[in-house]
Amino acid sequence: MDALKIPQDIVAIDVHVHPASQEAADSGGEYLQWARRHFKTEVGSVVSLDATAAMYREQRMMCVLLGKDERSNTGLPAIPNDVLAQAVKDHPDTFIGFGAVDPHLGKWAVHEVQRIADLGLRGLKFQPITQGFFPNDEAYYPIYEAAQSLGLTTLFHSGTTGIGAGAPGGMGLRLKYGRPIHLDDVAADFPDLTIIAAHPGWPWTDELLAIAVHKSNVFIDMSGWAPKHFPPLFVQYARTVLQDKMLFGTDWPLLTIERWQAEFAAYDFPAAVVKKIMLENAKRALRLEQ
Ligand SMILES: [Zn+2]
Repeated sequence: MDALKIPQDIVAIDVHVHPASQEAADSGGEYLQWARRHFKTEVGSVVSLDATAAMYREQRMMCVLLGKDERSNTGLPAIPNDVLAQAVKDHPDTFIGFGAVDPHLGKWAVHEVQRIADLGLRGLKFQPITQGFFPNDEAYYPIYEAAQSLGLTTLFHSGTTGIGAGAPGGMGLRLKYGRPIHLDDVAADFPDLTIIAAHPGWPWTDELLAIAVHKSNVFIDMSGWAPKHFPPLFVQYARTVLQDKMLFGTDWPLLTIERWQAEFAAYDFPAAVVKKIMLENAKRALRLEQ
């Protein structure tokens, strides 16, 4: 996949943004209600993709818009990859699209990875907890094989999840699938596949930091967690050893850009490090040119 030329005036890239359109509401079902309660967010209403693009454009930011396909495990409809592709076509100055495949769908999933690339999307989003799979199970390797050969970036949720949080039995979701160490196998077996591990990976933050230090193809996105609650070691690594591997991300609509930026600013990172985290590292992880 060729490098994507992005506008000169872009100051940041939010690498973790969810559609809040009607398709997203349909794909979230009751799981999303628990996530909203967990994040204590008022966002619950449908926001059009046009409005989402306008919000990022106003900030002179681009964002990675993430797909979702968890149908085997949750029974809920996917966000069609065509919806993401259309959003990117409508707003190429703002959206970078990541599609999704249900990993349980075998050869169909592998074909869909090819179609995702053909649609002009630049990556694949996985949520091992809600999709219910261990990322390092070799049954799914043909999917990564395809992604690697097509030059698609992958993004995996890591750590605990707000989805189903506080519900009886966590709505049947299992946190074991979110352990970062499973991604270490994938990174080792696919050295040319870029992997973004989303969130601070709590309660396995140290494990995640070790993987990102050890594997050059693993990045970490700093989304889904109010920055003021970042684990101290996570902040220390972002400031020092991992300053070239950490990526700005919010998890909008669960966290707002304003809150993320205000709380992150309180850590008072050197300006050069901030620039890497907000923009420069994402250009490498997503193969962008400015
Ligand atoms: Zn997310």
